[in-house]
Amino acid sequence: MQLDSFDVVVVGAGFFGATIAERVANALGRKVCVLDRRAHVGGNAYSEIDPDSGIEVHRYGTHIFHTNSEVVWRYLQRFTEFTGYRHRVFTVAQGRLYSMPINLATISAAFGRAMTPEEARRAIAAETDAVGANAAQNLEDKAIASVGRTLYDLLIRGYTQKQWQTEPRELSADIIGRLPVRLSFDDRYFDDRYEGMPLDGYTAIFDRMLKSPNIELHLGVDYFDVADQIRPDQLVIYTGPIDRFFRYRCGELGWRTVDFAREVHDVADFQGTSVINYADADVPFTRIHEFRHLHPERDYREPKTTIYREYSRFAGRKDEPYYPINTATDRAILSGYRMMMDKYPNIVFGGRLGSYKYLDMHQAIGAALKTFENEVTAFLAGQAMPSTAAVAG
Ligand code: FAD
Ligand code: UDP
Repeated sequence: MQLDSFDVVVVGAGFFGATIAERVANALGRKVCVLDRRAHVGGNAYSEIDPDSGIEVHRYGTHIFHTNSEVVWRYLQRFTEFTGYRHRVFTVAQGRLYSMPINLATISAAFGRAMTPEEARRAIAAETDAVGANAAQNLEDKAIASVGRTLYDLLIRGYTQKQWQTEPRELSADIIGRLPVRLSFDDRYFDDRYEGMPLDGYTAIFDRMLKSPNIELHLGVDYFDVADQIRPDQLVIYTGPIDRFFRYRCGELGWRTVDFAREVHDVADFQGTSVINYADADVPFTRIHEFRHLHPERDYREPKTTIYREYSRFAGRKDEPYYPINTATDRAILSGYRMMMDKYPNIVFGGRLGSYKYLDMHQAIGAALKTFENEVTAFLAGQAMPSTAAVAG
């Protein structure tokens, strides 16, 4: 691999890196080398066929595509069709099953009686204190202000403690802001205008994005083993962890990782739906994924099914970083790294790991399209790149 012969080197074949590589190769006709230290493309969206059940699984946890962005939705249509899958989730708490996110069915079940939207609003309002949801400074206050004590204690407190190993009062209110609360029977997990599963799975999208005579893909290669080949004026799109890039000089950023315990069962259906959350603090896993339900249109004939139980914990340096914890300390460390980026005008830091931001797939793709338009094209046209805009997302 002769790295210095490429116009652009992309580190990471996840959605951020693959989108930039595809645009540089196909829109600009320039040569791109894509490296990934893993043995496969797709980053955390990678999907593969489980050899024991024949079912397509998501190695890094269930991924549902959803977006309100017309631009991102149209862009992805070039590489895949989407099914009409709509994600719905249930939560088990104290032996009972509830619909999630919290909606009128959840509230009625939690209070043990059928409720109208107005009755539900009053039942919740009676349990919230004066602090409004918008003013709440932490996850617990925000959750209680939005759904009241009963629902918080039943469905949120234990799950959040397990998922974050951090007291909900110490966590950012934004985390829970991701979950809608509805006083209707609408039980869709996502509100977005577009939603679906890629018809042929996620990995097929990446294979199509990266199939170009202008793209050379090298898997199983760690950037830091080959970084000495990079020319100082060569454009690098770096989507790995930002603290690793700077050798942890300002400190390590906090991440949560998840472990998946895989089981193959000799039944056609293990739990009846794709994801069930487990809210009780004494159940060690946070959820069970059953992948066959992501593709009800497929003819999976074998009476076998693959499930993953998901366990959450803090990430060490050797673990896969999944969710940025983003405490005040993390933010101070991050601003140190952002200042150091100025010394690397040829490196664009992007994606979930490179920007230390929780990005959904559509956000990673949208950020990559913007980075391509604003920074990559300018750099390749020989203009100066605005270094302050180096963090996309
Ligand atoms: P990644 O996919 O993480 O890709 C980064 C790549 O860089 C990796 O392949 C890594 O191996 C490579 N890399 C890192 N360092 C190096 C190095 N030194 N050398 C070479 N390669 C390197 N989003 C949704 O929209 N819907 C969902 O339902 C959803 N579910 C999720 C569930 C879980 C459990 C998790 C963790 C995330 C979920 N996401 C979901 C988010 C989604 O995974 C991300 O939006 C997406 O992966 C971001 O793409 P990326 O390219 O930024 O990062
Ligand atoms: N959450 C919860 N109970 C649930 C589902 C979610 O308390 O059954 C909380 C939890 O704090 C979680 C947050 O809502 O971190 C956001 O949920 P989401 O499903 O977006 O989390 P993800 O799995 O993507 O982190």
